[in-house]
Amino acid sequence: MDLGHEQSSMEEYSYVVVGGGIAGVTCAEHLYILHPEAEILVITATPLIKAVTNVLPLTKTLDSFDVEERPAEELKNNCPNVTVAKDTVAHLDADKQVIYTSGGRSFAYKKLCVCTGASPKLIDNSPHVVWIRDTESACQFQSRIQKAKRILIVGNGGIATEMVFEVTGLQILWVIKDKFMTANFIDAGAAEFLRPELDKEKSENTFPLKRRKYTVDKMEAGASVLGGALGPDWHTGLELKGDIHRKVTIETEVEIRKILEPVDVRQPGKTITTLNSEEGEWPVYVELTNGKVYGCDFIVSAIGVTPNTSNFLKGNKFTLGEEGGFLVNEKMETSEKNVYAAGDVCTPGWQPAQHWFQMRLWTQARQMGSYAAKCMWSSLAKEEIYMDFCFELFSHATKFFGYKVILLGLFNGQRLEGKYEILLRYTKGMEYIKCVMVDGRMQGAVLIGETNMEETFENLILNQMDLSVYGEDLLNPDVDIEDYFD
Ligand code: FAD
Repeated sequence: MDLGHEQSSMEEYSYVVVGGGIAGVTCAEHLYILHPEAEILVITATPLIKAVTNVLPLTKTLDSFDVEERPAEELKNNCPNVTVAKDTVAHLDADKQVIYTSGGRSFAYKKLCVCTGASPKLIDNSPHVVWIRDTESACQFQSRIQKAKRILIVGNGGIATEMVFEVTGLQILWVIKDKFMTANFIDAGAAEFLRPELDKEKSENTFPLKRRKYTVDKMEAGASVLGGALGPDWHTGLELKGDIHRKVTIETEVEIRKILEPVDVRQPGKTITTLNSEEGEWPVYVELTNGKVYGCDFIVSAIGVTPNTSNFLKGNKFTLGEEGGFLVNEKMETSEKNVYAAGDVCTPGWQPAQHWFQMRLWTQARQMGSYAAKCMWSSLAKEEIYMDFCFELFSHATKFFGYKVILLGLFNGQRLEGKYEILLRYTKGMEYIKCVMVDGRMQGAVLIGETNMEETFENLILNQMDLSVYGEDLLNPDVDIEDYFD
């Protein structure tokens, strides 16, 4: 097969990992531990990589951890058998087991793990639309915020939610297609619990600075490949502050119909919805599906991501999953021999455990990166391994509006088709605990605030113990349920 690539001398590695995000770095680190005598290569398009630090186990399936950005070379300090190539993968020949970079290099592998992450979906290519994915896009966002009086955020996931909370000193219009905010993560009750936080003027830096920062003058990879995706602390160190009073307006059950230039709204018959009495002309306008037209300084697109598979597809026979990720089996293998995938770029194709499902999150990128390393090593070493326990239960820890949030199992009644009961404990401004129950057995839970229930609830979901006899007392604060079930 003629690949049309300039051939420099080919380097050979036992393992090649593509991507310097959480999945790729975790994969390389675990390969180093499992196979210290093997030659491992990490190809990363950007000069900074992600490193997981301060890992603190919260439950059997859930760790809390910080993520630092580090110069890519530092990986070699901790893992001497790992070589880092700062380059972009342009093409893969899966039959020959060779990967080609845009820098004209080629690498042969025995096992390849693709951890190239995902890119934000954009509502439009207009210059008025921005997104946040990596350090560079977060810095660009910061510089636009400082001159803005009003921004429009579209999307209802974790990134949109954090942005609405973190940005202060300007008007925010939040456009969501669901009935209530943050619907990908919480239910209407929890949204109600968190809603008052939106009306508060945010105090300076709510979170301590967790991430050691490195700055790069210019991303070497250019505009075509993004750096590693940011995580929960994407806003730390950024000044996301305008100079007027913060005001959040939510438009629910709508989408953006059209993006309009000022000239378009000067037409007769166009009515503009105003939020204050003296509104001048805005740089851009947005028409919503409910007919309202709002002006703003710019639009933030936070409507999800698309896996970065394109540089690997030409000439190969990959099967892609529902969301366009590389479909992987229970050993993290794609449909091409000796090619594995982990993190945001993959879509699990195995029959999932009853209480697990994929969400493109930091936690899962780390878990998959580590498990993919085990799978690659076991295949070369001809060792048998079993699926990692973390895939038994969906678990995620995050912070929304300054509250600790823990999500376990089918926390939003996923897959249950509405056939479940809810047990609730709610103390305004303090905690919100929701359990999803089917026939007296716990299927999922949402814990907001310092509840310290995560370990007990994880056990109850994993054990599927019949809790019918406790009824609503399960959440009675006077009953110390941890003593019963731990
Ligand atoms: P990425 O981190 O995207 O890494 C991909 C890597 O591959 C990058 O280094 C990239 O440069 C490289 N690459 C891509 N293409 C090529 C190529 N052709 N050649 C060479 N290298 C290439 N998750 C949470 O769990 N909690 C949160 O609170 C949270 N908040 C977030 C906030 C923001 C603003 C964003 C953007 C994401 C957030 N996430 C959060 C999601 C989380 O960051 C991602 O799920 C996770 O980082 C994915 O890791 P990854 O390693 O799969 O991919």
